[in-house]
Amino acid sequence: MGGVQLQMVGLNPGAGSSEEVAAAARMVALTAALTRHGHLYHALNAPEISDLEYDALLRELEQLEARWPAHKQPDSPTSRVGAPPIAELVPFPHRVPMLSLGNVFSREDLGDWVEKRDEKGKVRGGLMSALDRPADAPALQFSVEPKLDGLAIELVYEGGLLVGAGTRGDGSVGEDVLHTMRTVRSVPLRLGEGAPPYLSVRGEVLFDLAGFEQMNEQRVIAGEKPFENPRNAAAGTVRQLDPGPASQRPLLFFAHSAGEGLAAPTHSALLAQLRGLGFAVNPRNRVCAGVDEVWAAIEALGAERGSLPYEIDGVVIKVDDMALQDELGFLTRSPRWAVAYKYPAARARTVLERVDFSVGRSGVVTPVAVLAPVRVGGVTVRNATLHNEQQMRNKPEFLGGLRVGDLVEIYRAGDVIPRVDAVVDQPGRADLALVAFPACCPVCETPLDREENPDELDKITWRCPNRLGCRAQREAALQHFAGRLAMDIEGLGEKLVRQLVERGLVEHPSGLYHLSVGTLQDLDRMGQKSAQNIIAAIEASKARPLARALFALGIPLVGESTARDLARHFGGLDALQAADEAALLAVDGVGKDVARSVLHFFADEGHQAEIAALRAAGVAFAPEARAAAPTEGPFVGKTVVLTGTLPTLSRQQATALLEGAGAKVSGSVSKKTNFVLAGADAGSKLEKAQELKVPVIDEAELRRLLGLDPA
Ligand SMILES: [Zn+2]
Repeated sequence: MGGVQLQMVGLNPGAGSSEEVAAAARMVALTAALTRHGHLYHALNAPEISDLEYDALLRELEQLEARWPAHKQPDSPTSRVGAPPIAELVPFPHRVPMLSLGNVFSREDLGDWVEKRDEKGKVRGGLMSALDRPADAPALQFSVEPKLDGLAIELVYEGGLLVGAGTRGDGSVGEDVLHTMRTVRSVPLRLGEGAPPYLSVRGEVLFDLAGFEQMNEQRVIAGEKPFENPRNAAAGTVRQLDPGPASQRPLLFFAHSAGEGLAAPTHSALLAQLRGLGFAVNPRNRVCAGVDEVWAAIEALGAERGSLPYEIDGVVIKVDDMALQDELGFLTRSPRWAVAYKYPAARARTVLERVDFSVGRSGVVTPVAVLAPVRVGGVTVRNATLHNEQQMRNKPEFLGGLRVGDLVEIYRAGDVIPRVDAVVDQPGRADLALVAFPACCPVCETPLDREENPDELDKITWRCPNRLGCRAQREAALQHFAGRLAMDIEGLGEKLVRQLVERGLVEHPSGLYHLSVGTLQDLDRMGQKSAQNIIAAIEASKARPLARALFALGIPLVGESTARDLARHFGGLDALQAADEAALLAVDGVGKDVARSVLHFFADEGHQAEIAALRAAGVAFAPEARAAAPTEGPFVGKTVVLTGTLPTLSRQQATALLEGAGAKVSGSVSKKTNFVLAGADAGSKLEKAQELKVPVIDEAELRRLLGLDPA
C-alpha cells in the first residue's frame, strides 16, 4: 500500500452527477488513507506523514462529508468525534466470559507455577510420561507481557467493522462503552484484510502518562480538580455518557487476546494476527522459554517500569502453546494457563516542603504532606496523605515526628493515594522545625474538638466544631453537592465556590438556587455567557434523581452506591426520612453504622431546614421509577444465556427485555441455565446447551413468551 489509492468499493450506487461520483470516490480513498496513516501513527508508532498533512486530509474529508453526507463511510475517522452523549450505560454481555488472573508475588511462586505447566507440557499428548522425560527436553515457552494498569475492554467486530465495546464488569456482563471507545485513536474502526466475520478482542485502555500530566496541568489552570491517578481517570473517561472528553484525552488501547474469531497455534502467533488486523499490540511482549528467561524478562521490565510511557503494575505470563492452554483449562474465575506477577509498590524519595491541614465537609482536619515533585511509578506526585494526627506524630518510621525539610520515602500502589511511608534519618535533621498539628481550625480559627473513636484505639479525630460558620466546611459541602456524581453542576468549580462563599453569596447548597446571572457576572472574570451557562446548569440539577440528590446531601458514610441502594429501596425522600433503624437495616448493603448515620443526619434540625429549603427551591428529589419487579411470567427467577445474532434485537435490547421480565442474564451455559436465547451463528454455547438439554429459544419465541407480538 502507498499513498492515497482510489478504491471503488463502498461507493453508494446511484450516485448522480460526475462531480458526485468523483467526490464519493475521493471520500472512500481519503477514509482509507486516513485509516492507514492513523494506524501507522497510533498502533505502529511509525508515521509516514506529518500531523499537518494528516489534518489537511482530515479537513478535506470533513468538507466532502458535509457536502455529500450520503457517501460518508461507516468507518470514517471523522466519526470518532462529535457524537452526542448517550442517555445511560447499558449492559454489555460477553459471549465468552472475561476472566481475571491469579497472582504470584515472588520468584519462588513463579517457579512453582512454571514448573507445573512445564510438567504438563512435556507429557502432553501421552507421548512422554513425566518419569521418562529426558532431562534436556526443551523448556516450555511462555508469552511474557507487561500488565497494563488500565481498564479491561472487549471490542467486537462484525464483517471487519467495529460494532461493540464493553467493559469487563463482572466478567459476564460489563457496560457498553462503544461511544467512548470509538474515539480512541488506536482502536481500529475497520480491520485490515483477513478479518473474520465475527471477532471479539480483549485489551486494556489506559492513559499515555505524558498526556495525562499535561491534561492534569490544564485542569488545574481551568480550576478543575486534577485526576488522582491515570487508571481511575481512564475508567472515568471511558464510562462517561458524553464521548467528547474521551475524544480529547490521550487514551491508548493495546490488544492482548481474542475472545472469539481467531485461531492460532500459539498465543504469540495470535498477537501477530491481531497486529496484522490493525490493533496496537504491546511492543514489549516477549516469548521466553523456562523460568529463568521469564524471570529475566520480568526484571528487565521492572527496571524499565519508571520510564515507560504508561503505567504497568506487573507482568502477565501465558502458556504460549494454545493446545496446551486448552488442556490446562480453567479454575472457577481464572485460567490455569496464565498468571500475573505483581511488582512491589513503587517507592521514591523526596523532600517534605510543608504540611497542609485541610478541613473536610464534616469539619475533620486532615494533614496532607506537600512534597517536592517526584516521579513514583511513572506519575508525578506532589501531595501525599498523612492520615491523621497520631500517624503524623507517632508513626515509628517518622522518627519522632515529621520535620519541614525532611527527606521522606513515598509509597504508591495502584489506585491507592500516595503515602508518606518513612523519614530517612540524616545528619542535621534535629535542627529542622517539627511539624505541629494545629489547635485551631486553620480556616475559621475555632478551637478543634478531639474525638476518640472507640472502635479504633489509635484513631483520634480533630474536628472543627463550627459547622455552620466555617468557610472551609461550607466550601467542601458545596463542592461535593455540585460534584459530577452528585448534582453534576457543570462550571461550578473550586474557584467559583470559594468566591461565592467568601463573598457570602451562598452559605448552603440551597442558596445556589437563588443565584442570578447578574450576581455571577459581577464576580471576577465571569462573562455573561459563562454566567448564563452556570445558572442553566444549576437549574437543570433540580431534576436529578433521588440517588444523586441523596449522595449530594453528604450524609456521612453514605457514598454513591449506598445512596443508590437507599433510593431504590425507599423510592422517595419522605419514606427514607420516616424510616427507623430496622427499616434502614432491611436495605441491602446497609449496616448498623450507616443506618445510625442516616438517622442522625435526618434528626438534625439544621439538615431538615436545608432539605426543606432545597425542596422549596424546586429540587425534585425525583422518586426512582421503581422497576416494578414482575412476580409472575415465564422468565421470573430464570437464568438465560444469549448467543449468536438475533434478527432484530441487539444483545443489549434483548438483555434489557429479559431483565425487565425478571430473568438473570448470564454469560455461560451451565446446568443452572434455564433457557438459551440463540440467534444466527450461535457457537459453542448452543452446543453446550444441547449437550445439557437446556431449552433453546429464538427471538420469535422470546417475543411470544413476553407477549410482544400478537400470536
Ligand atoms: Zn473551621
